[in-house]
Amino acid sequence: MFAQFALHERLLKALETLSFTEPTAVQAAAIPKALEGRDLRVTAQTGSGKTAAFVLPLLHRLLSEEKPRSGARALILLPTRELAQQTLKEVERFAQFTFIKACLITGGEDFKVQGARLRKNPEIIIGTPGRLNEQFNAGNLPLGDVEVLVLDEADRMLDMGFAEDVLKLAGQCPAQRQTLLFSATAGSGLREMIEQVLREPEHLLLNRVGEINEEVRQQVILVDEGEHKEAVLFWLLQNEPYEKAIVFTNTRVQADRLTGRLIAAGHKVFVLHGEKDQKDRKLAIERLKQGAVKILIATDVAARGLDVDNLDLVVNYDVPRKGDEYVHRIGRTGRAGAAGTAISLVAHTDWNLMSSIERYLKLRFEARSIPGLKAGYKGPKKLKASGKAAGTKKKKTDAGKKAGAKPAARRKPANKPKAAPSAVVSNDGMAPLKRRKPAAE
Ligand code: AMP
Repeated sequence: MFAQFALHERLLKALETLSFTEPTAVQAAAIPKALEGRDLRVTAQTGSGKTAAFVLPLLHRLLSEEKPRSGARALILLPTRELAQQTLKEVERFAQFTFIKACLITGGEDFKVQGARLRKNPEIIIGTPGRLNEQFNAGNLPLGDVEVLVLDEADRMLDMGFAEDVLKLAGQCPAQRQTLLFSATAGSGLREMIEQVLREPEHLLLNRVGEINEEVRQQVILVDEGEHKEAVLFWLLQNEPYEKAIVFTNTRVQADRLTGRLIAAGHKVFVLHGEKDQKDRKLAIERLKQGAVKILIATDVAARGLDVDNLDLVVNYDVPRKGDEYVHRIGRTGRAGAAGTAISLVAHTDWNLMSSIERYLKLRFEARSIPGLKAGYKGPKKLKASGKAAGTKKKKTDAGKKAGAKPAARRKPANKPKAAPSAVVSNDGMAPLKRRKPAAE
């Protein structure tokens, strides 16, 4: 809910009018930090709702302390005229119940007309760096009162050769301003700009969905908790074509238990979890890299940043609790564009979680079953529009009762994930999406 941010009431009213109810992930992360007055570096894609993530705190600041005699109080730089126009529209929508005025200064427009616009002393100036510099050089752009500087799509501004213009404009704004820098990528190309324009920024990284390689097949297998689930894992490790595999569990206890079971069954396995010390961790990773072991059992924390070539199978023995965790796990395979398979084992109690992850990623996992190892659990009888199970009273014993029931309808193969979740994302990063038809029973 936007009300949680304690934004100015006129902004909340605008949000209500615009039917913005839930903040997107980038908004949930950036708005509170920006309201604290911190400098931020945000990695988020277009379509993630990032415009509101900087416009709302910026307007809140202008509304909280009126300064009728000051010059422009906020400067928003963008790489293209189209983006600048869109941003102006967003500003006007959010500022509709205020007296705050914004103006647009981009190339391809009459220079003098723009000069006249600037003389009206708008609180917010939105524009492209080249033309803004020309206006500055002509003495039309007072920047001495700027309190908030926004660099949106900073990576693109660099690509388009605007670095010098951006730095020059930033250098004209007061040093004690707040600066918010947004970019779609988190590469090192921005380092110099970040060092020059931001002060002790917090980095919010929100584009993980984009990290999934489209060469990775994403599948789900319905399972029954306990022996059946374990049998499916054993089958996969025995029969699935792979060079190296990583099996994720949600707990250390589960990781140790599975490791013991696999070793007892004759597999060469290493386990990685938070209780293992650095030496064990290094050894496990080295052995996996060398190919001395093919299978690693790991928890999320232990597998952070793991980069092993030819790791082509990821099994989610336990469904991860969050979309970002899923993305991280899947990112262990298919590195540098290589192909891979990610298989999640979904029991009765995991269905809704799995469906939330699908919505977050905006894709549908491919349903798969193993001949001779079908689960009693066939998926929910009915689905809500959200894709979650309808009317799920906890009746665990239902699973397995309907012998001979047909398997859940095979769903389409996973598509390439689109951009980061756009509108309406709840705080855990799960975005509602138009649903598929209920899976057939
Ligand atoms: P942006 O990434 O800022 O370009 O935003 C993408 C689109 O999502 C724009 O049309 C926004 O108006 C819309 N949008 C942003 N945040 C929300 C939200 N919390 N609820 C509904 N729509 C939103």
